[in-house]
Amino acid sequence: MTPHAEVRLVVDGAKCDGHAICALVLAERISLDTWGFASLVDEPLVGEREIARARRAVRACPAGALTLLADPRGSATPVVVVAAPRRRPSRSGRRDR
Ligand code: SF4
Repeated sequence: MTPHAEVRLVVDGAKCDGHAICALVLAERISLDTWGFASLVDEPLVGEREIARARRAVRACPAGALTLLADPRGSATPVVVVAAPRRRPSRSGRRDR
């Protein structure tokens, strides 16, 4: 990741199940709506500590609803995924592909 990249946390509303773990890990960026679903502040993350906590929130989400993206400013380079949800094992115990 370049030092000039804007890093943003995004939530897939279709996957969010309202577990609320993310709001405990990154309370200043994530709030919960009336039904307990995640609502994110739509601004770039600031500093390595906040980005590290956002990465923890991505990994803690049991629904795999959060993704951390780096979007290099002023560049035609496509968005780079910094942290993506972990894959969950399928019901047979094997990892999904
Ligand atoms: S931890 Fe995941 S599923 Fe739970 S509220 Fe946050 S984004 Fe939604």
